[in-house]
Amino acid sequence: MDETAMPKQAACWACGTSVILPCQNGLYAETYKCGWCGAITSPQKQPQNSSLLSRLAQGVRQGFVFVIWLVLLSVPSLGFTCVLPRLLTGPALFLNIAWAASLALNILFNFAAAIFRHPGPVELETGRDAAVPAGCFDNCYFCAPCQAPKPMLAHHCSRCRTCVMEMDHHCIFLNSCVGVNNMRHFLLMLSYLIVGCTYTMAACTCLLWQERVAVTSNWSRLLVPILRSGHFWEFFLITPRFLVTAPWWLAGNTYLMALVAGAIPGIALLLVSELRLIFRGQSYIESLQGRAPNTRPGRLRALRRVFGCTHPVLWPAMRWHPPPGTAAAALSYRKSA
Ligand SMILES: [Zn+2]
Ligand SMILES: [Zn+2]
Ligand SMILES: [Zn+2]
Repeated sequence: MDETAMPKQAACWACGTSVILPCQNGLYAETYKCGWCGAITSPQKQPQNSSLLSRLAQGVRQGFVFVIWLVLLSVPSLGFTCVLPRLLTGPALFLNIAWAASLALNILFNFAAAIFRHPGPVELETGRDAAVPAGCFDNCYFCAPCQAPKPMLAHHCSRCRTCVMEMDHHCIFLNSCVGVNNMRHFLLMLSYLIVGCTYTMAACTCLLWQERVAVTSNWSRLLVPILRSGHFWEFFLITPRFLVTAPWWLAGNTYLMALVAGAIPGIALLLVSELRLIFRGQSYIESLQGRAPNTRPGRLRALRRVFGCTHPVLWPAMRWHPPPGTAAAALSYRKSA
């Protein structure tokens, strides 16, 4: 008797119900859905062991995040010591320091929250050995590395070694995923960074103009000897020479201007592309997979899913827990239920 004609059975990973696999042209389906609990069983990749190389790569990624922390902290430190006290005096100085400090605090708070909050925990227990209600694992896959159910909207991140609900992307600057739980902090961080960088650029430009005589004499002291001697290769040494000979405030001002000029286009591009995806009701991963968004929510509704049902004026507020009405709040409600 032909073996392929025999009905083949498999057990559902979630409830253990045996499923008769459909057969077409002598080939059995590899992916099947349980008729009782709705869980999907598909071929699994074996979980990878953590090798020395992957632990080394993780160390490098954490080191990079530490450098980002230092860079973020260097901007207010230099702004408060090199730029603002030289540019302003009296109440104007006090107001500008308060404004800059609140910007820096919001950037650092949202950066920390985006790193230290779980990007999107999956709150589903495996139902094996217990009575599983009908439809309880509808469209859930099984994640082999996590050994746990993975809902349709979750993705497994091999760098974070966890499944993330509504994962958008793994961000190298955070060394963490951006998912349903920290998307608000990520967007707020980018928005505050745009405002902060623009303000820094404006303050540095004003100082450069105010001190134009000192700046010109400093640069001409470096440039004129090179141009006169014709040793143009010495241009490569101009940065170390500048750092050694320039006064402290001018070196700090130049560093800040170079940093924010390089950062602004990248941050703006990231923010615009992230908002475009949110308005389309899609994550970055889904856009890469070419998966069409299920529904196209209105722009305000799409933003409310991230920022909550409070008045938009309150959206930029510094708050650790997800505001009511967000997809992240619905997630933590289900957790406590
Ligand atoms: Zn089942
Ligand atoms: Zn997983
Ligand atoms: Zn990740």
